[in-house]
Amino acid sequence: MTESQKSFDYDVAVIGGGSGGYAAARTAASAGLKTVVIEGGEEVGGLCILRGCMPTKALLYAAEVMHLASHAEPWGIRAENVSFNFKQVMARKDLVVKGFADYRHEQLKNGKFKFIRATARFADPHTLELFPVPEGTGQGEGEERRQRSIEVQTLTAKYFVIATGSTIAPSPIACIDPSYCLNSDTALKLTRLPKSIVILGGGATACEFSQFFQRFGVKVTLIQRSPHILHEFDSDATGELEKVFRREGMTVYTGTKIIDSRKVGSHKGVIFEHDGKKLHVTAEEVFYALGRIPNTDSLNLDKIGVTTDCRRIVTNYFMQSNLPHIYAVGDCTGQHEIVHIAVQQGEVAGHNVAHPERMKEMNYRLLTEVIFTEPQIAAVGLTEKKAERRNIPYLAASYPFNDHGKSLIMEAKDGFVKLLANPTSGEIIGGCCVGPSGGDLIHEIIAAMYKRMTVAELAAMPHYHPTLAEIWTYPAEELAEKIARE
Ligand SMILES: Cc1cc2nc3c(=O)[nH]c(=O)nc-3n(C[C@H](O)[C@H](O)[C@H](O)COP(=O)(O)OP(=O)(O)OC[C@H]3O[C@@H](n4cnc5c(N)ncnc54)[C@H](O)[C@@H]3O)c2cc1C
Repeated sequence: MTESQKSFDYDVAVIGGGSGGYAAARTAASAGLKTVVIEGGEEVGGLCILRGCMPTKALLYAAEVMHLASHAEPWGIRAENVSFNFKQVMARKDLVVKGFADYRHEQLKNGKFKFIRATARFADPHTLELFPVPEGTGQGEGEERRQRSIEVQTLTAKYFVIATGSTIAPSPIACIDPSYCLNSDTALKLTRLPKSIVILGGGATACEFSQFFQRFGVKVTLIQRSPHILHEFDSDATGELEKVFRREGMTVYTGTKIIDSRKVGSHKGVIFEHDGKKLHVTAEEVFYALGRIPNTDSLNLDKIGVTTDCRRIVTNYFMQSNLPHIYAVGDCTGQHEIVHIAVQQGEVAGHNVAHPERMKEMNYRLLTEVIFTEPQIAAVGLTEKKAERRNIPYLAASYPFNDHGKSLIMEAKDGFVKLLANPTSGEIIGGCCVGPSGGDLIHEIIAAMYKRMTVAELAAMPHYHPTLAEIWTYPAEELAEKIARE
């Protein structure tokens, strides 16, 4: 019997009910496929809602309000003795998260596909074994869930979409034991703030949590191995954020090498090399922000022959693994830990299992990344670093927020916008915004690049005055004139 003649319990089984898995299931089910989602987390919602985007941005927004309230003098406003109630700060974050998690739970149980609470692993290339989710966890439907997950021991499917996300990476540094540190999961459960904290790492999570802690009065020391924080961005962008971090009182060490970490009385100490010297910092807490790894260990992928590379499931642009009936999407593919990419990949996989005759592929031309600090850092398409690495010719022009109407009104003078254009055609090939609402402002350039606009077209597009968005017209005009002259 061929694969297509065999009968399976489901057309598609999606492992993981986070952003990528839900997108895949929704797409496959609405194309008429008999679909099942298996979710094995303690809670339903996925990383973005429960421990990623939403809680961290809720906390960062609180930190921004705190900062603004404490620095209102430029507008003639005196707000003395600004204080906060940390329990309320966290409670509001929890309320926001609960709203989103409840909604996701409803979406998963809406009847368009079957939803099973269990942890899955492959028994063979078309069969999953299901294990009950540990008791006493979850969102109040424990008994019902337990019954269902015990009843269903195995299931078969013609296609699979693996969307099992990521988990906090083990330490690459022998002397650092992550279990003795705070991380992005445990920090979200703090009931009181430490007085001081050492942040290990300089990526998005490290930077966002650093500013949150700093703005709520914690003494923060950030230790980063690379010469700059957020090393994938251009150094002019990250330099602006480092400047602001230091101005707000944070101690930032870049270009370091961690040598040791140990308890010092009631505190925790970190010893590292910096500028040829051995330095020692102690703090009440150490925050481990040295990355995440794909969550694929327990799936039995080796046994069924799915190719992985350092735990990440290797896929093609159709999101297929080397076994064409097994797709993988989101963080478990390990390349971009960005939620809208997980969703896009889920939609592509869901479409492709339903329509193998007209497959869609992922395209990362408009890859965007946003860091939600203040100033925010956002970039789409090529950065100068990427263009240079790939030998792609470009022209670049920037314009600072300290010379722009709306940002001067807002006293938001840090940062700049930058455009990269093809030197011949003028097509916009990259944009970067370091500044107020950078994560929103970058969407103008995403739209322009989506439509393959040139800098001349962007410069000619009407922009309302005074807005933050009109700042894009300055580098666009500069580049358009330069290209017209050459
Ligand atoms: C602190 C932090 C802040 C972030 N902020 C942002 C941001 O601002 N913007 C942004 O774009 N991205 C952000 N991210 C990244 C973003 O959250 C992730 O890229 C995204 O949520 C990944 O979605 P996913 O569907 O791949 O995985 P997940 O949402 O993690 O879903 C995986 C699901 O699979 C389940 N699962 C795992 N193994 C099994 C199994 N064997 N059987 C059954 N179920 C299983 C898990 O319980 C989980 O629910 C942040 C991440 C972190 C950690």
